[in-house]
Amino acid sequence: MGVTAQSVWDNCLDFIKDNIQPQAYKTWFEPIIAVKLTDNALSIQVPSKFFYEWLEEHYVKILKVSLTKELGETAKLVYIIKMENTYGNKQPFTEKIPSSNRSSVKSQDVDIPFNNKSPELRNPFVIPGIRNVKIESQLNPNYSFENFLEGDSNRLARSAGLAVSAKPGGTSFNPLLVFGGVGLGKTHLAHAIGVDIKDKYPEKTVLYISAEKFTQQYIDAVKKNNRNDFIHFYQIIDVLIIDDVQFFSGKTGTQDVFFHIFNHLHQNGKQVILTSDKAPVDMQDIEQRLLSRFKWGLSAELQTPDFETRVSILKNKLYRDGVEMPEDIIEYVAKNIKTNVRELEGAIISLIAQSSFNKKEITIDLARVIVEKFVKNTKREVSIDYIQKVVSDYFQMDVDTLQSKTRKRHIVQARQLAMFFAKKFTKASLASIGSQIGKRDHATVLHACKTVDNLSSTDKQFRKYVEDISKKLSV
Ligand code: ADP
Ligand code: MG
Repeated sequence: MGVTAQSVWDNCLDFIKDNIQPQAYKTWFEPIIAVKLTDNALSIQVPSKFFYEWLEEHYVKILKVSLTKELGETAKLVYIIKMENTYGNKQPFTEKIPSSNRSSVKSQDVDIPFNNKSPELRNPFVIPGIRNVKIESQLNPNYSFENFLEGDSNRLARSAGLAVSAKPGGTSFNPLLVFGGVGLGKTHLAHAIGVDIKDKYPEKTVLYISAEKFTQQYIDAVKKNNRNDFIHFYQIIDVLIIDDVQFFSGKTGTQDVFFHIFNHLHQNGKQVILTSDKAPVDMQDIEQRLLSRFKWGLSAELQTPDFETRVSILKNKLYRDGVEMPEDIIEYVAKNIKTNVRELEGAIISLIAQSSFNKKEITIDLARVIVEKFVKNTKREVSIDYIQKVVSDYFQMDVDTLQSKTRKRHIVQARQLAMFFAKKFTKASLASIGSQIGKRDHATVLHACKTVDNLSSTDKQFRKYVEDISKKLSV
């Protein structure tokens, strides 16, 4: 005889393969397992309910044609949904769903219904229940390459971005990782690549998402037992842009799921674009296997722009806003605000606002007042509370732990760093710093400051902590 579930399905696959895109075939048909053939009904196993719905929505015709060719008019198709379980229970659970040609199928037993209360997560960007498979890119069209001014500080990253958008997935820059400090244009550049790809390849599915939102979606998916749907959603994307991947630090579940999605996309020639506030070598609490993936492609740094670039960024901004400003004032602002581009833009915006609200002419004096205020304003936000928050976030502990009486080395170090920065960035006295950071006395604070000084000149890792936290505090 020789007609088995496998042989029937293999023949169907041959037919299907000739009739759909290779990519779609790989994504939607290769993972299917032929399970059994009884009473002219072929049972196939699919990895999720989402998968099953996708097949029904997009491939039901070709499935029917191919199966009828093999088994005749009475052919039936039964889906078995087999999910890898994401909660404690080790038992995989299955559900059998008869295919669309329901009329010809006797009602099937549903072994274990899953997820029958909450609507499943199909596209995390679409309100559940609404059948919509079109994926919005979540891109901001204002963040274009045109508006991303070139300078020495960003040339490599910008050109790599352009190369990627000309041939998404087709360069060795996969993944492309753009890294650099706060406000230096990572998010802007990431969008620009996406916007340009959408423009050149409208049929490609591009998705921009922050690592934070991705994590949240993943947590929700796990809660609702929809982990597989989540994975499938991300696996069908052609160009995946994830912003601020340092957010994945310490989040092993999210790292794990991202690892699988990344591998799938990479293997299928899809483009991945990532941004981070640090280079892969400096990332903490990111699994080694993920870090090694980050290094497969290109890591390109965005550095602080030099004076000329700052001037041209300002001019471009003014031009787009239709505002005229004397050259010397632009230069004054560019000379005095160098830490990051967002601050630079902020200063010029308040300058424009001040002059138009108060009907004052934009003069160098007004610029001086504003720049000074602007710089002061950003400085004033640094309070001892804020410093403790930043330091404890950095070490992923809470403020209570930082203040506690424990003598555990890493907690003591965090506490000493908080004291050191409180001394450095505020005008508070040693005694006042001590009383605010875990009710210590002034001698303890003094000792802390000395220890930090010593350690940062002798211990490379420790110096790194100081630099990192310093950067966070001077934003
Ligand atoms: P990051 O994500 O690195 O913190 P953003 O991408 O949010 O920084 O950039 C901060 C602001 O600076 C944005 O408004 C962005 O448009 C602007 N910006 C940064 N770099 C440039 C550049 N090279 N040309 C024009 N604008 C820039
Ligand atoms: Mg950003």
